[in-house]
Amino acid sequence: MTDNNLWFTEQCEHGGSAFGVKIREHLHSEQTEYQRIDIYATEKFGNLMTIDGLFMLTARENFLYHEMMSHPALFMHPSPERVVIIGGGDCGTLREVLKHGRVTHALQVEIDERVTRLAEEFFPELCIANDDPRAAFLFGDGIKWMKEAVPGNVDIVIVDSTDPVGPAEGLFTEDFYRDCHRALGSDGLLVQQSESPLFNMDLINSIHKAMRSAGFADVRTLFFPQPCYPSGWWSATMAGKQSLDGRFREQDALRKRFDTQYYNAAMHKAAFTAPEFFSKGLL
Ligand code: SAM
Repeated sequence: MTDNNLWFTEQCEHGGSAFGVKIREHLHSEQTEYQRIDIYATEKFGNLMTIDGLFMLTARENFLYHEMMSHPALFMHPSPERVVIIGGGDCGTLREVLKHGRVTHALQVEIDERVTRLAEEFFPELCIANDDPRAAFLFGDGIKWMKEAVPGNVDIVIVDSTDPVGPAEGLFTEDFYRDCHRALGSDGLLVQQSESPLFNMDLINSIHKAMRSAGFADVRTLFFPQPCYPSGWWSATMAGKQSLDGRFREQDALRKRFDTQYYNAAMHKAAFTAPEFFSKGLL
C-alpha cells in the first residue's frame, strides 16, 4: 500500500501490525504468471522488492535473512557439497551458500524467472555469485522437482519461499517434507523459512509435526531479526535425518574466511536458543 507516494506500508491483519518504509520512486511493477512484483527506491532502505504487496527484501537488511537461512545449516553438515534452494529467486541465499568452498553444486529451483531477472536488474549485489560455475538455475515448481529428485543425492535443502499461500503452500506439507527426506543423503539437512515466532506459533508447530511425521529425526527452530517482515522477528526451522546434537562445526565457523554482517559462531549458538514462550508453546 503506498500512501501519497511517500510510504510503502504492509499491514499484517493476522498480527494487527504494520511496517512501512519511506519511498522515493516506484521503479517497476508487473504481473507475472505467478504473482505481482513491484520494485521501489526507498529513502533509507535501498531498493525494495515486494511480491503480491508484501515485503520480500530490501537492500539494507536482507543480509539478516540470507545469512541465517544459509550458514547455520552449512556449518552443521559434515560435508555440504550439494545444496538445493527451493525459491530464493532474489539469489541472496545462493550468494551466501556459494561462500562455502566445500559446496560443489548449488541448484536454485525458483518457480518465477521474473523474480531472478528483476533481482539481476535492481539487486545486482545479490546476484554476484550467479556466474559461479557451481551455480545452476531451474525455473520451475520446487514441489514437482523434489517429487522427482534422485534419492539420496542432496546434502542440504533450503526452502527460501514466500508465505505458505499460493504457489508456496505445498512447500509446507508432510508430502513435500517426505520428498525432501528421500532426496537427502544420510547426513542431510532441510531448512525452511518458518515465519514469525511471535505471530505464527501454530504454523511453526505444524511444521515441526509434519517434518517429524515425514521421517526427520530432529527438528529445531532458529531465530533472527528481520525488520521488514511482520513482527520484525523471523525464524527458520531445520530438520535433520540424524540428531542435530553436536553437528555444529564450530571451529570451522570460527575460522571462516568469508565475510558476513550478522552470522558468526556465537550468533549461530544464540540463534538456536529458544525464548521461554516458544519452548512452552512448542507441542
Ligand atoms: N525472503 C522471502 C521471504 O521470506 O518471504 C522469500 C524470498 S524469495 C523472493 C521467495 C520465492 O519463492 C519467490 O521468488 C517465489 O516465486 C518462490 N516460490 C514460491 N513458491 C514456489 C514453488 N512452489 N517452487 C519454487 N519457488 C517458489
